[in-house]
Amino acid sequence: MTFSDLGLAAPLLRALAAQGYTVPTPIQAQAIPPAMAGHDILGCAQTGTGKTAAFALPLLHRLFEARPQGAPSGPPPNPEAHFQQQRQRRGRRPDRPQEPYRPLKVLVLAPTRELAVQIAESIHDYGEYTGLNLAAIYGGVGYQRQIQSLRRGIDILVATPGRLVDLMEQGYVDFSSLQSFVLDEADRMLDMGFM
Ligand code: AMP
Repeated sequence: MTFSDLGLAAPLLRALAAQGYTVPTPIQAQAIPPAMAGHDILGCAQTGTGKTAAFALPLLHRLFEARPQGAPSGPPPNPEAHFQQQRQRRGRRPDRPQEPYRPLKVLVLAPTRELAVQIAESIHDYGEYTGLNLAAIYGGVGYQRQIQSLRRGIDILVATPGRLVDLMEQGYVDFSSLQSFVLDEADRMLDMGFM
């Protein structure tokens, strides 16, 4: 079986190909089809077996397929030029076009800052050509950038519980449009008393 057999959206297949991944690992092959169909999944596999992609790919697929009219509809014709342009725009904040607010649709909770960063990087890589955006929020760093991301609106949020609760209590997190929730390393999270 290959990733194309799973029916993943073209921008995801493109990102996977760019990373040299063609064959799903066992947990990916088992979890992706039911997750793409919207079912709840409880997955259990050893570290390094591709669990992040097992939940990230179907979530990205569903968000991409349900993207609003007018949103980016696939990979830019020349991705490098496109990202170069985006980076230049970021550097020139006043000229940056106002993007519509994106309500939060996917929440991924992780037990540690290191894991949250790692998951966010993986989701970023898998979703690079989808036009979807994400943010990671965790403790031990300043609030300002995280608050800015939440205010601007994001499709996918990766968070550690402490900072998330903190920002929720300050009123910066809106779950009213949330569609999917992932508890990464659920056994460890519950062991650590995050109940
Ligand atoms: P994870 O278990 O999610 O931490 O993934 C472990 C490593 O396997 C990461 O470096 C992934 O980029 C890589 N990986 C994930 N899926 C695949 C795949 N289907 N084929 C090869 N490598 C993969």
